[in-house]
Amino acid sequence: NAPLLQVNDLKKHFPIRGNFFGRSTSRVYAVDGVSFEIARSETLSLVGESGCGKSTVGRAILRLFDITAGQVVLDGQRIDDLSPDRLRRIRRRVQVVFQDPFSSLNPRLRVRDILAEPIRNFGLAKSATELESKVANLMDTVRLPRDALGRRPHEFSGGQRQRICIARALAAEPDLIVCDEAVSALDVSVKAQIINLLQDLQREFGLALLFISHDLAIVEHMTHRVAVMYLGKIVEMAPRYQIFASPRHPYTKALLSAVPVPDPTVRRTPIILKGDVPSPINPPSGCRFHTRCPYVFDRCRTEEPELRQSAEGQWAACHLDVLPDTPASAT
Ligand code: SF4
Ligand code: MG
Repeated sequence: NAPLLQVNDLKKHFPIRGNFFGRSTSRVYAVDGVSFEIARSETLSLVGESGCGKSTVGRAILRLFDITAGQVVLDGQRIDDLSPDRLRRIRRRVQVVFQDPFSSLNPRLRVRDILAEPIRNFGLAKSATELESKVANLMDTVRLPRDALGRRPHEFSGGQRQRICIARALAAEPDLIVCDEAVSALDVSVKAQIINLLQDLQREFGLALLFISHDLAIVEHMTHRVAVMYLGKIVEMAPRYQIFASPRHPYTKALLSAVPVPDPTVRRTPIILKGDVPSPINPPSGCRFHTRCPYVFDRCRTEEPELRQSAEGQWAACHLDVLPDTPASAT
């Protein structure tokens, strides 16, 4: 059973225009060799601090720009090098929900027209009656009242607007939805509602989700697997349970130590990272995390660790096989 999506050694470098006779003098290594798969009906969460390249990965899959190197394969077909007309059909199958539902919805359009647009564009209704019934059904699907179809985006709350964005994504009848910080701007209770909705839709339609988030806590109860990114690379990837119960990479461990645990008897050793994320224009030598890693040792500064599989399905890019609870540098 081939995966729905395969990303192989994806690279996206952005040239920066310097003053050197107008030629590019350097590049931003936004995504620098990322590989993963997503199965049908699976949720993979891509997690990391802002600037780690996770949104760039999402945009590359959506084909919002050309990639620098690597492959994006959807259902056995390469989509990174498709011509624009063949890309159109692929576009239907991969949809997106962004963070800010207000700016991604046309304020002048009524919800009816917002939802009808993709159905028409992709030729998914054979008649006006079918179009109308599909639009009405989408409202049921995202738990919005049908009589709101005549309203415009500003007449809805933030959570309702995000439901409209989800309905619009579903209108294209996709196989995969990229959710880029899709709940980050919402209140806590609304976040939970939208996540529950996404999970229901996944079960109902067999949808795959690429859930991009800076917040590990958000994905803890909804994802199947997690990939943690740091400075353009995946540093750890594992099923949800393993990531949360036994992180292998010091960076994952640090991110997790900041996630509040509801059970007050359980304590995670806090790991404070030194400094800021280094610039992706000039990433550190060896292990890119070495400038902030509490476990750093000599080899880390010169030799880049490979992503290696340890426990079943758990991959980590670190020279250490076992992380002591307390880093040597902290004692
Ligand atoms: Fe830390 Fe070294 Fe592992 Fe990198 S390779 S995460 S610097 S211990
Ligand atoms: Mg982002």
